[in-house]
Amino acid sequence: VTTTIEASAVEGLRSNLRGPVLTQSDAGYEEARKVWNGMIDRRPALIIQCQGVADVIAAVNFARDQGFGAAVRGGGHNAAGYAVCDDNVVIDLSAMKGIHVDPKTRTARVQPGVTLGELDRETQVFGLAVPAGAVSTTGVAGLTLGGGIGWLMGKYGLTVDNLLSAEVVTARGEVVTASESENRDLFWALRGGGGNFGVVTSFEFQAHPVGPLITGGLVAHPAARAREVMGFWSEFVKTAPDELTSYCGVTGAPDGSGLICAIIAAHSGSLEDGAKAVQPIKDFGPPAMDAMGPIPFVVHQSLLDEGNQPGRLIYWKSEFLRELTPELLDIVAGHAVKMPSVASTVLLEHMHGAYNRFEADRTAFGQRDAHFNLVVIASWTDPAESDANVAWARGLIAAVQPFTTGGVYFNYLGTDDGADRVRAAAGRNYERLVEVKRKYDPANMFRYNQNIKPS
Ligand SMILES: Cc1cc2nc3c(=O)[nH]c(=O)nc-3n(C[C@H](O)[C@H](O)[C@H](O)COP(=O)(O)OP(=O)(O)OC[C@H]3O[C@@H](n4cnc5c(N)ncnc54)[C@H](O)[C@@H]3O)c2cc1C
Repeated sequence: VTTTIEASAVEGLRSNLRGPVLTQSDAGYEEARKVWNGMIDRRPALIIQCQGVADVIAAVNFARDQGFGAAVRGGGHNAAGYAVCDDNVVIDLSAMKGIHVDPKTRTARVQPGVTLGELDRETQVFGLAVPAGAVSTTGVAGLTLGGGIGWLMGKYGLTVDNLLSAEVVTARGEVVTASESENRDLFWALRGGGGNFGVVTSFEFQAHPVGPLITGGLVAHPAARAREVMGFWSEFVKTAPDELTSYCGVTGAPDGSGLICAIIAAHSGSLEDGAKAVQPIKDFGPPAMDAMGPIPFVVHQSLLDEGNQPGRLIYWKSEFLRELTPELLDIVAGHAVKMPSVASTVLLEHMHGAYNRFEADRTAFGQRDAHFNLVVIASWTDPAESDANVAWARGLIAAVQPFTTGGVYFNYLGTDDGADRVRAAAGRNYERLVEVKRKYDPANMFRYNQNIKPS
């Protein structure tokens, strides 16, 4: 499908922009419409590659005045492909890469094209870190707006719990600040309500002293022992200190030798405390491979990069779980080892400490009572294997239904999660999000996201 727009309108936009505007016939268009999930194949009418706030204002005004919906692209990692759309406009922020860290106030001002690895690199200059996610190529922008689950959440909470303010271009094309003292409703909604309310052009975060060395890394067991390992881990995490966040999952061995069951852990306190805290993980089994100990924070932050390269075919599902009962672990381990593609992952994430202590309505992120998150990422390359991989992932999700909280993480919604799942993700905060949406984007121009409908 080719979408035609008046050439004069495109020229007008170009003359008003520092960055490039790509139409469907321009060089670079094909590359610019690709996102992390290779299953996503969308053809926007225009991709507006912004260089700064003035470009974002011009892009928003253009989209609104021409009657287009706008998808907003940060890191392009969203598994449902929300960074791109068919026939409408993409506001691409990936070139906006500025980061400024103030070591005195331990704050970081971050533009929306920055990835997690880029942010860690700059904050670590001062021995600081902003709590974020587990794969370094993920975009800070999308991750923050949906919550931000990661290795520091037990101690410091989600990324949104460390957001101090945001600069936002609204659907009207106005630049506003959202913080505890200005536009509080917007600030509340941005912290978990996704990209529904405007285009964030910079984030101000609280950073914390972390590293440069932490205790982290992983241990691996043969997947045949997945049930035992998950059983051990489910007991182990019950007494984990806030500093220690760990995940347990089944995936392919990096050397291609088959499936493994791994425990990955990060302890952000002193190396001495960290060594003591992870010792039971190292003792259990013992593992077939033990790569857990002192590790540079930035290395730990990219441990999972290799298995999450862009362009693979992905079907992503997740569920928050109430508790890990033996019956549930039988299901998860039993199903995981039957994955049709060894590039897939079944992951249990432990949510605890500061994550649970923030009140459920303090920010728009409403899932504070969950203690575990089950993430199923089917990953393969041959389209002929799509049906088998999708069916496997759906089968596991169907089997765990009796054990879920009914909630789901905003940022882990997949391609076939509809309006009911967005509602489930927002939980008790849904109605309040609708009110804020009505105020800031009544025409739903920002609709290529975990959409909160204004009515
Ligand atoms: C391999 C992998 C690992 C992941 N690991 C984690 C993890 O450890 N923890 C975690 O919490 N999540 C994780 N995620 C999920 C991740 O948080 C989401 O995919 C998130 O949407 C990625 O942000 P992005 O900027 O890369 O996304 P994009 O695809 O660029 O954007 C996603 C959506 O965010 C919105 N958006 C992006 N930028 C802006 C902006 N500046 N203003 C307004 N709206 C905007 C848009 O509505 C867009 O629809 C992971 C995802 C992948 C693929």
